[in-house]
Amino acid sequence: MAATTLAGSCLTGLQVRKSVTGPRSRTIPRVVARAADAHRLNQAFSETPFDGFKFSPITEHQVSRAMTRRYFKDLDEYAEADVIIVGAGSAGLSCAYELSKHPDIKVALIEQGVAPGGGAWLGGQLFSAMVVRKPAHNLLDELNVPYEDEGDYVVIKHASLFTSTILSKVLQAPNIKLFNATAVEDLIVREDAMRGKYVGGAVTNWTLVSLNHDTQMCMDPNVLESKVMVSSTGHDGPMGASGVKRLQKLGMVNTGIPGMAALDMNTAEDAVVNNTREVVPGMVICGMEVAELDGCPRMGPTFGAMFMSGQKAAHCALNSLRRQDALQQDLAAKQSSSGAAPEPVAA
Ligand SMILES: Cc1cc2nc3c(=O)[nH]c(=O)nc-3n(C[C@H](O)[C@H](O)[C@H](O)COP(=O)(O)OP(=O)(O)OC[C@H]3O[C@@H](n4cnc5c(N)ncnc54)[C@H](O)[C@@H]3O)c2cc1C
Repeated sequence: MAATTLAGSCLTGLQVRKSVTGPRSRTIPRVVARAADAHRLNQAFSETPFDGFKFSPITEHQVSRAMTRRYFKDLDEYAEADVIIVGAGSAGLSCAYELSKHPDIKVALIEQGVAPGGGAWLGGQLFSAMVVRKPAHNLLDELNVPYEDEGDYVVIKHASLFTSTILSKVLQAPNIKLFNATAVEDLIVREDAMRGKYVGGAVTNWTLVSLNHDTQMCMDPNVLESKVMVSSTGHDGPMGASGVKRLQKLGMVNTGIPGMAALDMNTAEDAVVNNTREVVPGMVICGMEVAELDGCPRMGPTFGAMFMSGQKAAHCALNSLRRQDALQQDLAAKQSSSGAAPEPVAA
């Protein structure tokens, strides 16, 4: 049957040697391509638009300098960031996206993994779809992420569609720099009369170094100062909830860290969003890290709370920046009326 079709179309010109009789006495031509014909056809159907491709010339040092010059410029620029976000999971990325609407604010997004996105590449267990309860779908509308509307909730066909879309927006924002494969190992903590103890930045290292402190000689970390840190390091795990765990060791949060409570979707998401806050001066917590600190129920594979907690954290950070500015201005005004030179309040 196939030979009949082919003989009448693209194999025109091939030698039809003989016909055979099929089971119901139908005549089927048997086509045998000669080597020369096969060669001609191979040539005709092997061309691509990329044949004979040639790149523009480059030298190896140009490649090296193109990367390193930019990276070290970024390190120099972000050594004093307005906001440091620790953890680029769904909460941290939602926070970064919200802050991208404020291009005057310099944001360093630090992620220990090579691949940003945290736990938001899948919907739950190993399933693809991501469930988002309303009104968190408003963020999806802003990002133009398509979904199926199921009434009180929406479903994105693959969690990765959300994560790749928000990631691309965040990476395009001129005021945000992602430092991935970089772990926050500790906090900068300072104290002054106006704010008491406050978080003033992050102590960082390459993640591969952080993972090998036991096997190497001591390797000192790097530091980035911030006016506000947003900790979105997820729930407990080898490095998860690291922000609040460090605050507890430093005695800066009174409670222990109970860890997330048993699952109850209906109360969990509201609790995480409502408890997203500046937990100590200079440090906001969001996402599943909130559930770790406050013992909120876990919510399972519903992601609305992660989006909205991250968005709220951005506004807590903006409020903290405004408060610090106002304090600074008050102090400067008092000092100028008393004739003393103004001194900086904080970071
Ligand atoms: C055992 C388990 C239980 C889960 N239970 C729930 C649940 O009940 N509810 C729920 O919503 N989801 C749950 N999840 C899924 C998923 O983790 C979360 O839904 C969601 O991804 C949390 O968002 P997040 O942004 O708070 O944290 P994550 O997506 O975990 O993102 C945190 C990011 O911070 C980075 N990070 C952590 N520490 C550091 C550091 N020191 N320096 C730099 N980067 C750092 C991590 O690499 C990660 O990319 C669970 C996952 C697991 C494995």
